[in-house]
Amino acid sequence: MAQQFNRCGKDMGTQIDVPFLQEKENDLSYYTSIDDATKTWLNTLHCTWGLWKKSDGVTKMLTDYFSTAPNPYLSVLRILVNVSDKSIKSKMSLSFTVAEDFSKWISSRKDVYKDFLQADIKSATFDLLTMQKNLQLTKIVFDTYKLAEHKELFLPALQNMITEKRYKDAAQYACILHLQSYFLNPEVLLLPLILQNKLTLVDDLLVNCMEAQKALITYLDDLLASGKNIETALEAFVDRNQIPEVKISTMQLRPMNKLVGRLAKQYNLPPEYCPNLNQRRGEGALKFLIYKRYVDCKIRGESWNEMVRETVGTDSRLQFELVKSLAQANDTKEALRWAKDYKMPKDQWPWALVDCAEVELEDLNTNPEVAAEENWDVEEDPIRYHTLHLPRGSIKIVNDTRTFEEFLTKGLKEVKIVGIDSEWKPSFGTKQSDLALIQIATKTTVYILDVISTGKELTDLWAKIGIMLFDNKNILKLGFGLAHDIGMIRESLPALASIKATGQGYMDLLHLWRKLTKEHCFQFPYKGDSAFTNESLSKLVELCMGHRLNKSDQFSNWERRPLRESQLTYAALDAYCLLEIFEVLRVQCARLDVAFNELCAETQHIPSKLPKKNLRKQAAKAGSGTSSISIHTAESSVQKFDQKNTENIKVEPWTGMQAAHEWRVVCDSMLGGLARQLRMCGCDCIYVEFDRRGDQSAKIAMQQKRVFLTRGSAYNRFAPSIGQGYCYRVLEDKPEDQLKEVLNNFRVLVMPKDIFSRCQICNYDEFVQVSRNTIFELEKSFTKIRHRNGHKFHQGAFRDVDNVTAASTATDSDTNLISNQDSTLIHEKRGTFYNCNRTWRLTTETLDIASCATRHRVTVQLDKVPPNVLKNVEQFYICECCGKVYWDGSHMERTLNGTLRDIIVWQ
Ligand SMILES: [Zn+2]
Repeated sequence: MAQQFNRCGKDMGTQIDVPFLQEKENDLSYYTSIDDATKTWLNTLHCTWGLWKKSDGVTKMLTDYFSTAPNPYLSVLRILVNVSDKSIKSKMSLSFTVAEDFSKWISSRKDVYKDFLQADIKSATFDLLTMQKNLQLTKIVFDTYKLAEHKELFLPALQNMITEKRYKDAAQYACILHLQSYFLNPEVLLLPLILQNKLTLVDDLLVNCMEAQKALITYLDDLLASGKNIETALEAFVDRNQIPEVKISTMQLRPMNKLVGRLAKQYNLPPEYCPNLNQRRGEGALKFLIYKRYVDCKIRGESWNEMVRETVGTDSRLQFELVKSLAQANDTKEALRWAKDYKMPKDQWPWALVDCAEVELEDLNTNPEVAAEENWDVEEDPIRYHTLHLPRGSIKIVNDTRTFEEFLTKGLKEVKIVGIDSEWKPSFGTKQSDLALIQIATKTTVYILDVISTGKELTDLWAKIGIMLFDNKNILKLGFGLAHDIGMIRESLPALASIKATGQGYMDLLHLWRKLTKEHCFQFPYKGDSAFTNESLSKLVELCMGHRLNKSDQFSNWERRPLRESQLTYAALDAYCLLEIFEVLRVQCARLDVAFNELCAETQHIPSKLPKKNLRKQAAKAGSGTSSISIHTAESSVQKFDQKNTENIKVEPWTGMQAAHEWRVVCDSMLGGLARQLRMCGCDCIYVEFDRRGDQSAKIAMQQKRVFLTRGSAYNRFAPSIGQGYCYRVLEDKPEDQLKEVLNNFRVLVMPKDIFSRCQICNYDEFVQVSRNTIFELEKSFTKIRHRNGHKFHQGAFRDVDNVTAASTATDSDTNLISNQDSTLIHEKRGTFYNCNRTWRLTTETLDIASCATRHRVTVQLDKVPPNVLKNVEQFYICECCGKVYWDGSHMERTLNGTLRDIIVWQ
């Protein structure tokens, strides 16, 4: 069949077979000439459009015109020919509006005007449509002028596009005009599109057109035939047809393999349509198995026999490949066994085998037991493996209603934590693998849920397991690479199609492992074999418990029933070891003083109720090697910190009270006042100043898992995607009232220690504390630097009280904690919590005095500090991120006793 198509392609070249192709001149001149009255009317239309665009006025004008026209089809065509924006590819163009309004208007009057849609009008409409490029316009005019019955008339135009190498245009028109079936020969349109990597268009052309699907897949599979060089073949095709913009990677074997596989799967075509793909995959699978056995040493025993039989099947070419590969791997004994098993004629045996066979034969004659099948595959494995510490009776198979119900009622009773794993038979061909088992391990029992025998029948019970286990946040589900398992479960069990894989109740030990090593310099109880380095469950088991997992049953036929004993223990251990790892990590964290519970909450994306101080300190310690990287804005640094923790987050509604300092929000540009108030309360608040429609704010909210606060229409647009509980429309008008509204709504707890714990300018919460003497030192360097850089230093900036303008003092005093006059007094009164216990991260001695810069290499903003403050205040706090200088003063007092008095919870 493949060859047939090939020939067919050659014979036809790239011509489309058009049944009634007719030569026609594009001549619209008759429609271009319009009388003066129409000209005037058109001018008015253009003016109105210029003013109002798509509007009731324009629609009114148009419909009035339609209803007075002797032949509205003709009149609209005239307007379309004479309107000046036809090439605009948008629904917002005037021509599209004309066509759309006409389509609406005529739909209820079709019968009245049915005789007015004459052949010459249709023909001119064709010409018009082929001369412009607005797809939307084409579609609506095509329908309104009932062109479908003559759609083939467009074929010459499409043929022209193809001749001009405008494959994309041709494909789009072919889809809109329902002309896909004229492009069955893959070489005409589909292959050029594939070579240009325009696969979406290929899909559009193939959908609902089974003939085209079969033709294309057969054609492509033919390219995959062994002995054929796909790149040479495609290069020749590209040269012959002068195809532009070809993406080289599309011509290679692997992407093509993948594409054929995907198309065959997508269109559900049986394997007969891609014999070469299956052959290639079979060879690939065989290589993989040989590798697993002789290099990786991970497959042996019955699993090996099973998988070889499965892969090779009755394909004589693959049988020969197998025997040859085994002989090449110097395992002549095994090669001989399979050669005999497949009854392969001796003249086809590899040379190495023939010699060896004679020796073997003698052996068999003298020592008959060797021939017994049971002795085929006795191998010693020198590695010691981690084993299951549960009695055999604790592995329970769940494969009917009774065992299933028992699992639900007794098995999950009072269970708080389980390990979950799943198994499926590996498959290499076009056939999809189905989930075979789900293992659920509790502390005392491992339940092996047989999906093959219960998946289709016991749907009610599977739905129940969804509610009782998967959607139950109170049972912690441990996994390793959990998303993959859950993905398989979702696909294979319709009753569990909507279960989640992340969020509260789910913990991926792979993520926990990465977190521990990256952020906490974690030491595992065992060092493990340094030659064994992959990021696998087996490695993690080795690091936690000293011995790795025996994976020799991983690649085995999980669909066979009954399962072999070794398969059962393998499956049970794979789930049970997750519980063991969790326990080891918990104990080890306690030993190393790592906050395990917080870590678990983070991995499950549960908002923490405790300050993150400790975690952050550890994170900073772990990353101390990179501390020289300068961070210019708090946002970027916050982003950096967050991105690690916010992959694939599913949002949970809040529960309980949360600490102000930990509450993370983003305010859109309409909530500047509220943003200031929130920062004053210590909330982690990003304010996006220029973002009228809220897009930027919403994006930040999603990326950083922040609550999105808005007053505008952005709420409606983004609430569905940001998720419940993470998007809020603020109702109050005044910032003070808005503050109360949101704090109440989100149950945020503001305490005195939160007040002014963040930089009011940049939101950062890391400050360096300096004394007045240090400030004087800084001032000296500051002056020096200014002089060096040629700035004319304003002498009075620091020393002369009169030179500080009233305006700048006013703006600054809002953002400074306390103004100058009575700072000493206040220090005595409330000094206890001002200096120490705020929820900020306070350091000393991180300043670089010589360059007058903070840890993040930002210049300290000394010029903003009034001279009398320098005289009177003892302690200053400098924002590490932006260099803003703060000091305690009466502003603090005013804030605590003023607007925030009702909000703060005094301990
Ligand atoms: Zn700052």
